Amino acid sequence: MELAEIDKLKRNPRRNFIQAVREKDTVTCLVKAAEIHSHFCPGIALGVMASIYGIWELGVESMYFDGIAEDLVAIVEVNACFADGVQAVSGCTLGNNALVYRDLGRLAVTFARREEEAAVRVRVGPDFVSRVNHAAPRFYPLLEKVIKNREGSPEDMEAFKQQARTAAFSIVQEPFDKLLIVEPVKSVLPKPAPIKPSFVCPQCGEEIMGSKIVQEGPNQGLCFICGHHPYFEVEGQGIVKIEKNRTTA
Ligand SMILES: [Zn+2]
Ligand SMILES: [Zn+2]
Repeated sequence: MELAEIDKLKRNPRRNFIQAVREKDTVTCLVKAAEIHSHFCPGIALGVMASIYGIWELGVESMYFDGIAEDLVAIVEVNACFADGVQAVSGCTLGNNALVYRDLGRLAVTFARREEEAAVRVRVGPDFVSRVNHAAPRFYPLLEKVIKNREGSPEDMEAFKQQARTAAFSIVQEPFDKLLIVEPVKSVLPKPAPIKPSFVCPQCGEEIMGSKIVQEGPNQGLCFICGHHPYFEVEGQGIVKIEKNRTTA
């Protein structure tokens, strides 16, 4: 990357991405989103489309946030490919606390702003499967064979990837209102991330967020791992409560 370009990005690292959303350049948004998702597939294409549409419906100026003030918030309802399209396009991520994950398994995202009541929920229309079938007829059969059943040759895997790519690039050419359903909703946001001082766990010596310390009982003051305290993790199946921690040696 050229130095002049880096200098521009220093001021706003999302400058090019924001420009693409402003121009509703869906293909560029898909390609940039795939930088974090690592492949092209219908799910990420739908996440990209839902996010561009939702942000425009909310007001495209809501894109101009820095991920520090947590102004724009995305509530995503699925932890699959779709969620990466949302994170990439909106800039609302797990790391900057502007992403809320609601464990519902629905292909939908809500965009809201911290200081406003009005929010927008975008969901994928029911006919997206037939749209994918139309664009890439071998996608679902190959998904079944290669991913679900873990069968098929290397050629099948290549064909699957190619079909997924074809479907993704086809989806981002569709009109937003044919693909997606947008509805105004009242915003109900969780509180911003608490800022509590960190602690050093007296047993393992690791630095722990103030909110993740055992609050009572004989293990009070230890981290959840040393204190054998239950915790939650997001897995393929959603949010799971871990009763017996798995990370101790
Ligand atoms: Zn994917
Ligand atoms: Zn510890």
